[in-house]
Amino acid sequence: MKRYTVTAALPYTNGPVHIGHLAGVYVPADIFVRYLRAKGEDVVFICGSDEHGVPITLRARKEGITPQQLVDKYHAIIKKSFADFGISFDIYHRTSDKIHHQTASDFFKTLYDKKIFTEEETEQYYDEEAQMFLADRYITGTCPNCGNPNAYGDQCENCGTSLTPRDLINPHSQLSGKPPILKKTKHWFLPLDKIQKNWLEDWINSHKGDWKNNVYGQCNSWLDQGLQPRAVTRDLDWGVPVPLPGAKGKVLYVWFDAPIGYISATKALFENKKDNWEKYWKDKETKLIHFIGKDNIVFHCIIFPAMLKEHGEFILPENVPANEFLNLEGDKISTSRNWAVWLNEYLEEFPEKQDVLRYVLCATAPENKDNDFTWKDFQARNNSELVAILGNFVNRTLVLTEKYFEGKVPQHGQPNASDNAAIREMKETPKRIGELIEKYRFRDALFELMNLARTGNKYLADNEPWKTIKTDEQRTATILYVSLEITACLAYLMEPFLPFSSAKVLKMLNLENKKWEEVFGKQILKVGHPLGKSSLLFEKIEDDVIEKQIQKLHASKMELTNKSESTEEKAQAAAKSSTTFDEFNKMDIRIGTILEAERVPKTDKLLKLVIDTGIDKRTVVSGIANYYEPEKIIGQQVSILVNLEPRKIKGIESQGMILMAENADGELAFVAPTKKIDNGGTVK
Ligand SMILES: [Zn+2]
Repeated sequence: MKRYTVTAALPYTNGPVHIGHLAGVYVPADIFVRYLRAKGEDVVFICGSDEHGVPITLRARKEGITPQQLVDKYHAIIKKSFADFGISFDIYHRTSDKIHHQTASDFFKTLYDKKIFTEEETEQYYDEEAQMFLADRYITGTCPNCGNPNAYGDQCENCGTSLTPRDLINPHSQLSGKPPILKKTKHWFLPLDKIQKNWLEDWINSHKGDWKNNVYGQCNSWLDQGLQPRAVTRDLDWGVPVPLPGAKGKVLYVWFDAPIGYISATKALFENKKDNWEKYWKDKETKLIHFIGKDNIVFHCIIFPAMLKEHGEFILPENVPANEFLNLEGDKISTSRNWAVWLNEYLEEFPEKQDVLRYVLCATAPENKDNDFTWKDFQARNNSELVAILGNFVNRTLVLTEKYFEGKVPQHGQPNASDNAAIREMKETPKRIGELIEKYRFRDALFELMNLARTGNKYLADNEPWKTIKTDEQRTATILYVSLEITACLAYLMEPFLPFSSAKVLKMLNLENKKWEEVFGKQILKVGHPLGKSSLLFEKIEDDVIEKQIQKLHASKMELTNKSESTEEKAQAAAKSSTTFDEFNKMDIRIGTILEAERVPKTDKLLKLVIDTGIDKRTVVSGIANYYEPEKIIGQQVSILVNLEPRKIKGIESQGMILMAENADGELAFVAPTKKIDNGGTVK
């Protein structure tokens, strides 16, 4: 092969990225690409933000911003996280960019002109007031299965039944709140049923031996069920407009435009270069490899290849080494439940420890089955592998050389059997690691790397240079020379896996990063070469640091459990333990009247109230905006705890607390006297 095009799944831009993404896709892809570069291969590494689709429009509505503002925000956060973790994309592009719009539009037009698509007219729900067809998620109504009045047009989140909008009883639009009408609309379909029979099935079968079992197996089960035509367009105002007359208000379906994002990103990469992007996508001597998670297999093994082949100019992927999922502390990672370790938060709490996470995620990568990340394992792998094996070997070697030979590579003598065994192990390791990486077996490759560090540690322990220095300086020089060569070898081998630590060790050795063929199989360090200053490569992570992370996760789980109990089981809170009358009597609760009420800007729930307590007039901030309109509660009598310590909420000093009754759904109501009581009257 002359060159490689390596893509990593385009993250969906409605939230930051977490460790599951990194373990499943980006760390393995980055190891693979860094390895290819070290081998001197011609490779482009392509990624970008997937910025279209309904979930983004919904999230933007919820946050009260435009879809563009939403994707701008998360694109920046995601891009920074990848850069921070050393994911070495040649370009991190985005699908809202105009190069992408043009590329996706042209791609559609080519398939349309070749008459690949079928056309179909269907009836869909339409909001007359908003003048828009409604995506499934924009329609809510009563679930026919469980009676939940807030089921979505695609699923009831209460009972889990998947639905179509027409299943809903009393459907209404999320946009206007009105019942939608059914209206005819035309869409274009990719006839995957025909494509399956024509060539797709044979092509997938031809990869039985070289694709991973989990990938090939999933493809086969899709084919067994029989592929169905799939709509490539939809009625929506956010996305790539359908480039046909009379298609106003229609955009390309996000599954269709997103993978074309790899091509447009490659175009953008070569925009100002002499070289051409096309050879990376159209030349048969190019190997195209997609790194993805298992939820994306159907798109990268079936649908995108179907698009590429029917277009006619493009090569098909050579391999799609998809990973399974990473779980967290025994539970599925979930964005909506906030059960995740977010990359941006990790770096705030473990600054400059990117490689520790890269290491742990590679060592536990879900390559063939789902795997579990736990904080205890993270700590154990840091302390007993990175610190005790790799860091220990590198640091001992460098410190002893500084001490005994003034930080210069010493002149070695004749090697003995022990030296030769260690050298042999060192010479064989790069080849073993390379072969494993080329088979997408990154865990095993990392294990080989650590084995070489283990070999180094054992070599030092067996030969004891700290003892030989007293009797035999020549022998000591040979031992440290061999150890330094192993350290240098490790520094180059570490680069794909632990790029930050590799750079550190190279600096300590006073070496440049080089291609593997320039260093392996040769003497790396010249006698007399001055070394740099040594420092600790990894540091121990203490129990309290890990405890804090575990507690943080469990705190979010508690929140979750409380929430689901109150909404699903509607359980009332258990009675609190008993208290004394004196304790109760410390609370000064008065009757007051609301004089003024207004929303606190930029918040959903808060109202700023001015209350006449009979004692004084004071400001109280209360989280009741979802239940009361400010203008309707002027004059309302309330109960207020007046001797609560004042606290600042959103910059406003809140002096006291309004007592609210709350039912199991979290719905709030004022606690007020049943007849008018003078302001300042006490509650006891
Ligand atoms: Zn239901």
